[in-house]
Amino acid sequence: MSERLRLKKNADRRLKAGHLWLYSNEIDTEVTPLKGIEPGAQAVVEAANGKPMGVAYVNPHSLICARIVSRDANLRLDRSLLVHRFNQALGLRNRLFAKPFYRLVYGEGDLLPGLIVDRFDDVLVVQLNTLGMERLGGEVIAALDKVFSPRAIVFKNDSSGRRLEQLERQVEVVQGELPEQVLLEENGVRFVVPVIKGQKTGWFFDHRANRAWLNNLVAGKRVLDVFSYVGGWGVQAAAHGASEVLCVDSSAEALEQVAENAALNGLAEQVSVGEADAFEALAALKAEGEQFDVVVLDPPAFIRKRKDIANGERAYSRLNREAMRLLGRDGLLLSASCSMHLAPERLVECVRGAVRHQDRHGQVIYQGGQGPDHPVHPAIPETAYLKALGVRVFRD
Ligand code: SAH
Repeated sequence: MSERLRLKKNADRRLKAGHLWLYSNEIDTEVTPLKGIEPGAQAVVEAANGKPMGVAYVNPHSLICARIVSRDANLRLDRSLLVHRFNQALGLRNRLFAKPFYRLVYGEGDLLPGLIVDRFDDVLVVQLNTLGMERLGGEVIAALDKVFSPRAIVFKNDSSGRRLEQLERQVEVVQGELPEQVLLEENGVRFVVPVIKGQKTGWFFDHRANRAWLNNLVAGKRVLDVFSYVGGWGVQAAAHGASEVLCVDSSAEALEQVAENAALNGLAEQVSVGEADAFEALAALKAEGEQFDVVVLDPPAFIRKRKDIANGERAYSRLNREAMRLLGRDGLLLSASCSMHLAPERLVECVRGAVRHQDRHGQVIYQGGQGPDHPVHPAIPETAYLKALGVRVFRD
C-alpha cells in the first residue's frame, strides 16, 4: 500500500488510547498531503516519528479524515479482513442470543467504522455510512455471503450521516430476494419488519433489554406507547399481560404494522392505535380525561447536532411533562432518548422537572442503555447514545 498519513507531534495520543478517528487538523500535511489521497483509499497511519500505527480508510473532504480499520499496518480492509471481523462480531452475538435476530455489526463498536448490519435471520440489512465503507460495498456483500449465505442482503443507505460524506441515497436489495415478510422475534414476541419502507434498518434492536424490563411490570395495566413505530414496546406489553395498549404515531404506515403485529400475536383486542402528532395526542388525551398506568416515551432523536442541544432538551422536557399528566396516582413512566448529545443526567433532569411540575414524587427505578449487540467502544464516547429511564411517579 503506497498511501501514508503522518500524524503531527502529539496527535497520536488519542489513537494510542484506543480511538479510531483521525481529524484533518492532526495530519502533518507537509509530509503527507491529504489532498493527494483518493477518497476512500486506505493508508498506513504513522506517528510523528514515522512509526506505523495502523491502517485507516481516508476521506480527505471530511472533518474525520480517516478511520482506523486495523492496528496491523500490514493489513488492509478487504474481503478477508471483513470475513474475520464478521466472525468476531458473530462470536459475540452467539454468546449473547439464542436466536438470529440482532444488530450483527455496530460500526466502530465492532471495529468496522461506518458499517451497520442488522440480522433478521437470513435477511441482512446493511447501512454504509461513510465514503470509505461505501467504496467497500461490493466486498461487504461478498464477505457477508461467505459467512452467512443469506437469503437476501439489503442496502438501506438513507442515513443522515451519509449526507455529511456526500453520499447518495440507495435503498435496494443487492443480493438474493427479499421474502414477502421479514419476521423477527424479540423477548418472545413476533414482529413483521418493514425493511424497505420502515425507519432505519426496519427495527430498533437497541431497546431489547429495556423492553424486557418493562414487560415484567405491565400485567393488568393500561399502557400508552408514544412514538410507537411498529409497536416494539406496545405489542410486547400486550403480550406480557397489559390489559389495554394505545400506540400513537404520526405515521399511518407504522400503525398499520402495529395492528398487523398485534394480530400476529393474537393481541388484536388489546392493542389500538391513534394516528397523531405526539404532542397533540397527549394534549387531546388529557382533555378527554384519559389516564394510563404506564406511559412509554421513545421518540426519534430530538438532538442531532451539538447546536440543537438547548432546543432538544426543551422538547424532551415538554414531552415528559405532557406525558406525566396522563399517569394515574401511582404510575410508571418509561422515558427514552436516542440522542447521543443528551447526557444521561440531563434526561433525569427532564424527568425531575416534569415530576415537580405535577407536584408529584418520582423514583428512578431503572436506568438502561443500548443492548450488548451495540457494544460501546471504550475510547469513543459517541458509540454510547441510548438512554432509558424507568420512573415511578406517585403522590403524597
Ligand atoms: N419507539 C419505537 C421507535 C420510534 S422511531 C420502537 O420502539 O420501535 C420514531 C417514530 O416516531 C417513527 O415511527 C415516527 O413515525 C414517529 N414520529 C416522529 N415524529 C412524530 C411526532 N411528532 N408525533 C408522533 N410520532 C412521530
